[in-house]
Amino acid sequence: MKNNNSKKNKLFEKTLDSISNRKKAPIYSYVILLLLYIATSAIVTMSAGSKTAVSIFGTEVALYTFAGVFSALSNICIIFMTLYHGKLGFFTSLAVLTVQIPMIISGIIFRHNLSSLPGLVTDLFTIISIIVIFVNNVNIEKYQRRINDQAVTDRLTGLPNRFACSELINDLIKHNEKFVVVSADLNNFKSINDTMGHEAGNKVLIEVANRWKTAADTGLSGTVDFVTRQGGDEFAIILRNYRSADDILNAVKYYESVLDKRITVDDCDFFITASFGYAEFPVDAKNSDSLLSYADAAMAEIKRTNSSDHILRFKPELLKIERTLEIEQKIRTALENNTIYFNLQPQFDLSHKLRGFEALARMKDADGNFISPGEFIPVAEKVGLIDKVDHSVFKNAATFFGELIKKAGTDITLSVNVSVRHLMKNDFLDEVREVLNTCGVPAGQLEIEITESVMIDSAEKALQCINEIKNMGIKIAIDDFGTGYSSLSYLNNFPANLLKIDKSFIDKMNTSDSSKKYVAAIISIGHIMNFNVISEGVEEEEQLKTLKEIGCDFIQGFIWGRPLPPEEAEKLVLSEVR
Ligand code: C2E
Ligand code: CA
Ligand code: CA
Repeated sequence: MKNNNSKKNKLFEKTLDSISNRKKAPIYSYVILLLLYIATSAIVTMSAGSKTAVSIFGTEVALYTFAGVFSALSNICIIFMTLYHGKLGFFTSLAVLTVQIPMIISGIIFRHNLSSLPGLVTDLFTIISIIVIFVNNVNIEKYQRRINDQAVTDRLTGLPNRFACSELINDLIKHNEKFVVVSADLNNFKSINDTMGHEAGNKVLIEVANRWKTAADTGLSGTVDFVTRQGGDEFAIILRNYRSADDILNAVKYYESVLDKRITVDDCDFFITASFGYAEFPVDAKNSDSLLSYADAAMAEIKRTNSSDHILRFKPELLKIERTLEIEQKIRTALENNTIYFNLQPQFDLSHKLRGFEALARMKDADGNFISPGEFIPVAEKVGLIDKVDHSVFKNAATFFGELIKKAGTDITLSVNVSVRHLMKNDFLDEVREVLNTCGVPAGQLEIEITESVMIDSAEKALQCINEIKNMGIKIAIDDFGTGYSSLSYLNNFPANLLKIDKSFIDKMNTSDSSKKYVAAIISIGHIMNFNVISEGVEEEEQLKTLKEIGCDFIQGFIWGRPLPPEEAEKLVLSEVR
């Protein structure tokens, strides 16, 4: 098993090698240099003693005049070999140079061939030069290797680091074979660090790393694995060569089980457990970043739910959960920093006279990115923060509006959205009274929008509350009308002033005749029950024309006004009254 495993791990080693840049010049360049050297040396030897001349452009030139050029060329070959071919190049060069020395010396002594003397000196100098180059090269290589090793190795545990991990993942993706990325995080590691100190924490990390590395090296997990440390108490394990989902699960379970035995550090026993999340290429994700973050999301879910099961495979729903948690955090921060703000969308009657504005919540996160209300309002509803959001918009918009109507002296209306959850809170009525008392908006110019769902889910208590609001003189609007399933008889008893027809009906109105009739019917019923009717999301002239024909009272939509920042809304009001 071990042997087999180490063979299959070759890819991992190859990847590590290639990212640590341990590249040599190709062997064919060595062969070429050697052949070139032999050829040029041969020419030097032949030409040196030759009396032959060659004709160049009609002039006779003795061959030995070229000896210097070829000798320089042969030396360049030697130097290049030493420079680019490490030990092999160096020892070849050294051998061919030293072999020549006795030959030259014997020539000088026995044949009194003194013309070889400069060749001998050049030879000796070349030998010294290549020794210097080689020693220098060895030092540089050693240093480079150390730096490169550090770049891919985690210092504390000696495992490959985060960088090596994503390089390997990218390599595997190129090979296009399936593999799994496991994100592993120790449970309650922080408390070890906090109570026992970082030294002890580090020792625990080293022990965990050793156990997992051994697990990977011995192949006892049943798959071919590669363990890396991502930082802190986070590790990533890459699994290959499995056949089934069970193989994957068993491998991860093996990594879990090697932590079962207690870890003893400085005479203290630690019982360490870890949470594992994993994602598979290519089914769950196709690139390195997503694989890692999806595995992380699964691992985070294990931690969040405090599940007794410590292993979870990624599933797309987790991203939604993650995004919800992220948005929740952003809402909390925005509430703390008071950075939830509002826009005002104008409402008009069909002669284009301003009726008032609907206040709509807006939010930016700490980095200044805009988060759409379509995204954060449902999260606020879900996690119970909607009353705080509502309240902030209600209060700020009412304060602004109070000032505005004082300045402009108009009787236009401010509508605010109140979620059913918020409405059902015991202190909701106090909140409304406080706004009325402090913001300078007369009750008759305030309208509260409640979605139709209030009639279905929350009947009695909500109705009581709504009646009280109405008694204060505040108007009530039924928002998103048509999307719920409220019964006509209930609607008949509902103390509303305004029905807001949902945008989805207005959208369909011009494509189907029945939708037009449906909207006309809602308007008629609204009128029979003594409500005014407003159409939401009107964008086109044709819709406007139809709404006029079928007797709609008001409209709100991009055609006549998008949600505006308060200053813009103020300009609009002032231009109307003048
Ligand atoms: P809503 O109460 O139905 O508000 C109308 C939404 O329709 C607004 O979206 C508005 O910008 C959009 N809209 C208006 N006219 C047009 C149009 O012609 N075309 C299109 N495409 N859209 C139009 P927004 O501001 O994104 O708000 C979305 C929802 O968030 C609101 O729907 C409301 O349910 C909720 N919301 C906004 N502010 C608050 C708040 O302060 N409290 C509560 N509880 N909910 C809020
Ligand atoms: Ca609304
Ligand atoms: Ca609406």
